[in-house]
Amino acid sequence: MTVKEEPQDAKVARYRSLTTKQALATLLAGLILSFVAGVVELVADVRNMRSEVRSQTEQMLTLIEATAAEAAFQLNTELAEQLVISLQSSDNVAQVELRDDFDRVMFRQGERAHSSNPLYHWLFGDILEYHKLLEYRVHQKDTGRVVGELELSLALPVLGNTFAQRGLLIFSLSLLKTLGIVLLVVWVFSILITGPLLRVYNALHQVNPEQPGHWHRPHLKYNKGDELDHLVKGLDRLLKAFQQGLDQRDHLHTLSSIDGLTGIANRRHFDDHLQHSWETARQQHKPVSLIFMDIDFFKPFNDNYGHAAGDECLQQVAQALRATVTRPDDLVARYGGEEFVCILPDTDLQGARRLAERLQNCIAALQLPHAFSDCSEQVTISIGVASALPDADEVSPERLLRLADTRLYQAKASGRNCIVSSDKHTPALSKKASSAPDKEWV
Ligand code: GH3
Ligand code: MG
Ligand code: MG
Repeated sequence: MTVKEEPQDAKVARYRSLTTKQALATLLAGLILSFVAGVVELVADVRNMRSEVRSQTEQMLTLIEATAAEAAFQLNTELAEQLVISLQSSDNVAQVELRDDFDRVMFRQGERAHSSNPLYHWLFGDILEYHKLLEYRVHQKDTGRVVGELELSLALPVLGNTFAQRGLLIFSLSLLKTLGIVLLVVWVFSILITGPLLRVYNALHQVNPEQPGHWHRPHLKYNKGDELDHLVKGLDRLLKAFQQGLDQRDHLHTLSSIDGLTGIANRRHFDDHLQHSWETARQQHKPVSLIFMDIDFFKPFNDNYGHAAGDECLQQVAQALRATVTRPDDLVARYGGEEFVCILPDTDLQGARRLAERLQNCIAALQLPHAFSDCSEQVTISIGVASALPDADEVSPERLLRLADTRLYQAKASGRNCIVSSDKHTPALSKKASSAPDKEWV
């Protein structure tokens, strides 16, 4: 089974991350809300400011009304001057004028202040001018008599600036509150959602496709029982089920490539491995060798000692062969019946011959009694060895196998319990070989 590999750049770019998107969305929503809240607050503030300005100015005028009436009644210009100057010293006031009852100006201070800002006019234009008729009573019981008039103009630019400063403060505070809320929301989201999601994503990204069940399941501290917790549990079940499927596949594959009786590789595995080793050797311009083995006089062994003893013998021979062939790329397989075969990649004929001698010795070392053999008192094997350089067109794994088999036949013909690694033993075959010498075959 092939598992499609994840692209290496599957890491989420920071600007595309959920945390960034969520932070930006929260910030945008916060800014809009803070703007709306700021506008509402500003409208309320303008109303307050207007009534504050009006009542403060009225209060000021009321406070000095009596003294101003007295100054007008007495035509006391000094007192009028003091009053006007004290009124005009207030920041908001642009001009103050005190007139007597003949409409003559007793004293005037300041000038009317203008502003070109239409917003200021719209907001405060109607509360700039104040007129107060001054009434004077000689006695408490008298009805008041108008003795003059007090006129006061507020400074529009000063009101406008105050409004602008208050507006700026309102919007700044609103913005600060918004930023605080955004940071809080992002922090809470990152603890509860985006952070855990990122951990799940990283854990999935690191899953080994061949070992999905052994993933590093993320530990979500603050998500017990919530949707993310269920998601992780679901993923865990899914990956473990997937792992079970892979394990079963591997188990079946192992079963299908192992010989049931002896536990070593079977014929199917041997065929696959031979093709693979052949292809690798062809690409690397290296030799491949084969050792073909057959137990001598096994039929009489079986017939006399019984089938169970025959099985036992096959198992011992197989284990001894496997223990002797130790290189990782080498393979010992049961070819069928009491025949065994060994593939030796990157091994020339001399090397294969040496290993064949070791194999013969390891079977001898088992000292399995065989009273019905014509060549020894113990179980022995005959061996055919062949080697080839696969990068020549006229050679093939099948021909190499046939050659090793042929040499095994020669070993049998030569009396058994021996090794044949060239064609000189059998005149018929060696004649063929010498008549058409082939340097790819040895
Ligand atoms: P040679 O020396 O020429 O190889 O003679 P041989 O008797 O070994 O050869 P032959 O091919 O005549 O006999 C092979 C025997 O191996 C036949 C069969 O009884 C036995 N055999 C094959 N497979 C098994 C098996 O799985 N278990 C057992 N116990 N015997 C088997
Ligand atoms: Mg045989
Ligand atoms: Mg045999």
